[in-house]
Amino acid sequence: SKPTAQRITLITGAASGIGESTTRRFATEGDHIWAIDHDADKLRDLTSYVNDHGGRLTPVCLDLDDPLAIARFSEDFHRQHPAGADVLINNAGIGAVGTILQTEAADLDRLYRVNVRAPYQLSQLFLPAMVKRRRGAVINVASLGGLMGLRDRAAYCTTKFAVVGLTKSMALDHAVDQVRINCVCPARVETPFVTARIQEYPDPAEAYRQMSATQPIGRMARPEEIAAAMLYLASDDAAFITGSALVIDGGMSAGI
Ligand code: NAD
Repeated sequence: SKPTAQRITLITGAASGIGESTTRRFATEGDHIWAIDHDADKLRDLTSYVNDHGGRLTPVCLDLDDPLAIARFSEDFHRQHPAGADVLINNAGIGAVGTILQTEAADLDRLYRVNVRAPYQLSQLFLPAMVKRRRGAVINVASLGGLMGLRDRAAYCTTKFAVVGLTKSMALDHAVDQVRINCVCPARVETPFVTARIQEYPDPAEAYRQMSATQPIGRMARPEEIAAAMLYLASDDAAFITGSALVIDGGMSAGI
């Protein structure tokens, strides 16, 4: 029988945390990963790891804060793969701590460019091929903070609500094209994004305990658990799921 073509999956923020776990998981499942990140060292390590373990990864070192770099990457990608990508995972994201009175509007701009504008632009560039083939999936990594307010995260929360809105509008517009667009909304996940913040507390061990205790399940999510959900959303098992914001929060949003 004719071998099925290798699925091509683009993952942003692939070098750390949720993106790294997702990259490893999708590579293990046999995807050809295009891994996008601006951390050249971590990206190099991940590339060696995946390619040394029988996977296939093409590293793309670029700054998602740079629209021209994104456009150039897309041209380069489509020259090599005119049929386009099968899966686009907009995972990269940055945070900022503070209430609206403690956060500059310039901070919001910076977060917005990486958390919202880059997924928007990448979707614009990679959707047309999916629409043409009538097949494809886009998965955005939003946050529980894209569905509920978070204390001391005014700018971050603003951008994550935007990601959920983008997901739902795109899903409506392109359901007819057989392209599915979903997002995941994790509560705290134990990644460098969170552990770096914990180190800033006077008593990091106590902060870790408290952050774990605030989640009904009593611990933070593991990045592999977010990767597994995205693997499902990318698969044909999820063929009827589009426009959803999948909550992965250990029960946090279930009630007060
Ligand atoms: P992380 O900091 O461990 O990884 C983020 C990756 O994105 C890093 O490799 C970083 O280099 C890359 N990146 C950041 N800015 C970039 C840019 N301008 N250009 C290219 N690459 C860039 O974070 P994580 O915890 O794995 O978070 C991944 C996503 O999950 C983010 O969108 C975050 O908002 C979301 N999220 C995280 C948590 C959590 O608790 N960790 C919870 C909910 C949602």
